[in-house]
Amino acid sequence: MTAPTADLDLPALLGGRPVKPDGPPDWPPNWPEIRAAFDRAFASGNWGKYHGPDCRQLSAMLMQQLRVDFAELCCSGTAAVELALRAASVGPGDEVVLAGYEFEGNFRNILALGAMPVLVDIDPQRGALDPACLVGAVTKKTKAIIATHLHGGVVPMPQVVQFAQAHGLFVVEDACQMPGAIVEGRPAGTWGDIGVLSFGGSKLLTAGRGGALVSANAEWMQRVRLYCQRGNHAFPLSEIQAAVLIPQLQRLDDDNARRTANVALLLDLLRPFRFLKALVGGESHVQPGYYKLGFCYESEHLAGLCREAFVAATREEGIAFDVGFRSLHLSHSRRRFRAAGDLSNSSSIDGRIVVLHHPVLLGERHEIEEVAQAVGRVASHVEEIGRAWDNRSHAIE
Ligand SMILES: *Cc1c(COP(=O)(O)O)cnc(C)c1O
Repeated sequence: MTAPTADLDLPALLGGRPVKPDGPPDWPPNWPEIRAAFDRAFASGNWGKYHGPDCRQLSAMLMQQLRVDFAELCCSGTAAVELALRAASVGPGDEVVLAGYEFEGNFRNILALGAMPVLVDIDPQRGALDPACLVGAVTKKTKAIIATHLHGGVVPMPQVVQFAQAHGLFVVEDACQMPGAIVEGRPAGTWGDIGVLSFGGSKLLTAGRGGALVSANAEWMQRVRLYCQRGNHAFPLSEIQAAVLIPQLQRLDDDNARRTANVALLLDLLRPFRFLKALVGGESHVQPGYYKLGFCYESEHLAGLCREAFVAATREEGIAFDVGFRSLHLSHSRRRFRAAGDLSNSSSIDGRIVVLHHPVLLGERHEIEEVAQAVGRVASHVEEIGRAWDNRSHAIE
């Protein structure tokens, strides 16, 4: 008898050597231009002042790059969505429409204003709001629609805007996950009456915290400013935050182009793995952004391996997969929202989304190949991983 040879391809979850032993790349990035921005802010003293040139410059750059007349900086994307809803005078008794699969903070923002979230279904190909579902959602109480680009899936904004105009509704376009994306010829965030961006710690443009509102409409933005102004800006972005965002915004288009090329390569490499269905369709009229690259995980095509086991196994390989959100109607009491029509696509996506975190998408070709290699390694050991996972979950119980 010969001794069993070591399985060089053994998954890390089963004791093998991880594909990427150092784990996923870090975020925020350690780019020298960010360091230089810190140094400049220190040398000038602007880092510690209420007012300075950096917030002004950042707003001016946002207006130029997004081709809008108004940009207002604020303390977070969540605050930006709230401020946009306030500009639309959303309050108690009003209804705001959003997708059944959405960022939870947007749902909570509506509740925080005393209004009622009205959930519509998603387009299953994109995992984002389906404009065809809006028609059943509108009542006399409807004030606004929140349209959110998520996980690389872009909402077809022309249809949303056309519908909103026909019904006198305000559109908040949440581009927190897609700064710099282009949707049918226009920058994401500029289709809505107000668009919002986030500069949170994991986002493509990061200052740890922060956000912005953009608009072509002077009146809406004046309302935002009036609400923020309490003798002082009540939800401000600081000079030091603006200082480090400027060099990131300067290279955003180049970074987005690199991420887009890497996503194309990755989707090509993942093609053999039918259990991962990308939420991006390669539509010619959109250039999405990739904060998270979303997939519908179909365990039936992977011998029933549960999503959590897949995510844990790829994480052990050093690849930053995560589970997606819960669908809102399945994770909140029915008293908290109104469901408009059938939410079956939002239901079937619940518990099925996996997302790949973006830092690896700025990597070299071999790093993209490593993602596919990790997925392949898990796929070729699915039974053993399933057994190990079951034992582990029993041990925890
Ligand atoms: C991150 C995010 C937000 C909120 O941004 P914060 O700056 O973290 O408050 C809003 N919407 C979406 C879709 C997001 O991904």
